[in-house]
Amino acid sequence: MTRTRTNGDHRWVAVDLDDVVIQFNAALARGLEELTGDKIDIEQITTWGQTPFRDAAKSAGYASHWDWLKDHAYVWVEAELMPGADEGLARLRKLGFKVELLTSKPSWARWIVFHQIARHGLDVDRVTIVPTSLAQGAHKKVRKVDWSSAYYLVDDGPHNLEEWALAGRAGIVFDRPWNRGDVDTWRAYSWPEVVQFFALMSRVG
Ligand SMILES: [Mg+2]
Repeated sequence: MTRTRTNGDHRWVAVDLDDVVIQFNAALARGLEELTGDKIDIEQITTWGQTPFRDAAKSAGYASHWDWLKDHAYVWVEAELMPGADEGLARLRKLGFKVELLTSKPSWARWIVFHQIARHGLDVDRVTIVPTSLAQGAHKKVRKVDWSSAYYLVDDGPHNLEEWALAGRAGIVFDRPWNRGDVDTWRAYSWPEVVQFFALMSRVG
C-alpha cells in the first residue's frame, strides 16, 4: 500500500455520495411522486441524464428538478443509506485505504453532505465537494477528476468514470439502472462487492 503514481495515489479511494452511499434517486422519485401523484420507477431510467424528474418538476412549476429540490431539501435529507454503505466505508479504512467522499453539489446543498455523514455515521478521511453551476437550468458539472488525487473512484456516473479512466486511474462502477450501457470498468453490484474488490487490491499492493 505504498505505491503512488503521478496519475493518482493508490492509498486513496474516492467514493461518490448520491446513488453510491445514499439512495438519492429513490428519494427524489418518492418526493416528486408525493407532489405530482406520478409514479416514477427509477429502474426505468436506463441512461444517465434521461430524467423523468425534470418533467415532474416542470408540471409543478419549476424549471428543473434541481430548482424543485432547493425548495424541498428534506427529500435529500431523508434519503436512505445504500445497503451496507456505512459498514463498507469502514471496512475500506480497516483494509488500510484512505476514503475521500467526492461529490458534486450546488453551493446551497453543501450542508446536506455533512448532514448525511452525521446521520449515518459515515467513516471517511476527507470530504471534497466539487462545485456545480446551474447555468440556464442546466446542471453543469466541473470534472471530479480535477478535484481529487485518489487513484480509485467508486461512482455511478458514466461520465465521471470515463474521465477517471482517461486520466489513467481505476474506476469501479456502482451498478445502477442508468449505467448498464458502455461502462468499461469493474462493476460492483453491492457494497460487499466493493469491499471484496479493495480486499483484493490491498493484497496485491
Ligand atoms: Mg452519484
